Amino acid sequence: MDCPRCDGGNLVVQDHLGIEVDVCTRCQGMWLDHHEMDLLEDTVLDKDDMKGSMMYAERPSDISCPKCQDLMTTFNYRAYDLPIDFCNQGHGFWLDPGEEKRVLELMEKRIRDLKRTASAEGEWAGFLKGLASKKAPGSKSVFGKVKGWFTGKR
Ligand SMILES: [Zn+2]
Ligand SMILES: [Zn+2]
Repeated sequence: MDCPRCDGGNLVVQDHLGIEVDVCTRCQGMWLDHHEMDLLEDTVLDKDDMKGSMMYAERPSDISCPKCQDLMTTFNYRAYDLPIDFCNQGHGFWLDPGEEKRVLELMEKRIRDLKRTASAEGEWAGFLKGLASKKAPGSKSVFGKVKGWFTGKR
């Protein structure tokens, strides 16, 4: 296949993290068949339901699909500032040089964020539990005490 990005570049099959991708001999851009994008992400996170949606801010691309020559669509990868091109016919994705590393970095960041959210929710639940257990049986609520100050009944 010809490189969609540079004139005269050729895409040759290369092994990338165990995935057969096509890499341009000239600009080092990378073509991923449709399912290979998923495989690439799976090297970091293989739970699809935790990944969220991939395509944000879709707009027409300036390059054509190397398989069908249709104009591709650019989207922001998972709401991050990482523009990636994909073929509307479902042929695959074009990653400019270094973008495949950004994909993996962002996927790792997403895992960290998910873990942080999970632990924050855990802490919050623990905090609420702590509040509930601190309230000794029969003790007045804060509101009850404040009310007591105004009515003179302590
Ligand atoms: Zn190229
Ligand atoms: Zn195509």
